[in-house]
Amino acid sequence: MLLDGKKISDEIKQEIAEEVRLLVADGYRPPHLAAILVGHDGASETYVASKVKSCEQIGFGSTLVRLPSNVSEERLLAEIKAINSNEEIDGLIVQLPLPKHIDEQKVTESVLPKKDVDGFHPVNVGKLVLGLPTFVSATPMGIMELLKRYNIETSGKHCVVLGRSNIVGTPMANLLSRNSNPGNCTVTLCHSRTKNLSEFTKSADILIAALGKAEFVTADMVKDGAVVVDVGITRVEDQTNQRGYVLKGDVAFGEVNKKASYITPVPGGVGRMTIAALLQNTLLARKNSIKPSKIPHHVSKS
Ligand code: NAP
Repeated sequence: MLLDGKKISDEIKQEIAEEVRLLVADGYRPPHLAAILVGHDGASETYVASKVKSCEQIGFGSTLVRLPSNVSEERLLAEIKAINSNEEIDGLIVQLPLPKHIDEQKVTESVLPKKDVDGFHPVNVGKLVLGLPTFVSATPMGIMELLKRYNIETSGKHCVVLGRSNIVGTPMANLLSRNSNPGNCTVTLCHSRTKNLSEFTKSADILIAALGKAEFVTADMVKDGAVVVDVGITRVEDQTNQRGYVLKGDVAFGEVNKKASYITPVPGGVGRMTIAALLQNTLLARKNSIKPSKIPHHVSKS
């Protein structure tokens, strides 16, 4: 069965739109997300465009700051500083990757934690690890929401995560091993040095593939009835396609679909949920900026 990220993210967007309507009806300005895009990387352009479009659909304000690929680190940091101190903006994302001459870590750390709706700042990562309320990195947060809304049983299951990046694999492993629902999994985190990878993947009740290698996970690596979540998005050249490429996940969908009990498609799976989670974080940032006693009683506080 398909874990339909498009359907669930549309539901979430409708729920957020309703909360925005209530906030505005009570005289508050709607949430506002700012995105900084450096250069003209094709995939980054597409991601940022969908984030801005989603903001428009649900009644958020949005600002897109475009900077040339040769922009100095100093100028980029100055733009971030200006947005940090702009009280009309609740959330700020800097689309990664950045050009080589810019220190990504320095940029990540320059975003105010209370506006860091991507959940990349060390303060927010630390809170995530401790299980404290924070902005959870959007992709793992979206996957947790998908598992929750499909009532996937996770407690006591063996979850294998492929990939240990700071933005996907590591926080994913952390969230699923927590005492929560979804959660309470026994987690194995695999990476490029893992030996006998298939031995791990074949024992997974829940398999999360986040390595960025098109169709890496094949049917022989998957247990019958496993829940398979495909995070990967790779552009694979295809001259028969109008755009000259097709998008492939990390899972060979055609064959793995026959064995899995649940599976996410690419596109229409995790990517959609990532955007929904980013919007949820931005709404939270807006609510956090209003004094708790002033939040209208019909707007949820979480
Ligand atoms: P990343 O930073 O490139 O990390 C890839 C991870 O995969 C690394 O930990 C690497 O191990 C591991 N890996 C690479 N080859 C492997 C192999 N043969 N066997 C086992 N592990 C291997 O990637 P990322 O940023 O997490 O992104 C992963 C994929 O998800 C990409 O396709 C990206 O485009 C996609 N993505 C999608 C979304 C979405 O919204 N759907 C969001 C973010 C990312 P080492 O650490 O040992 O190098």
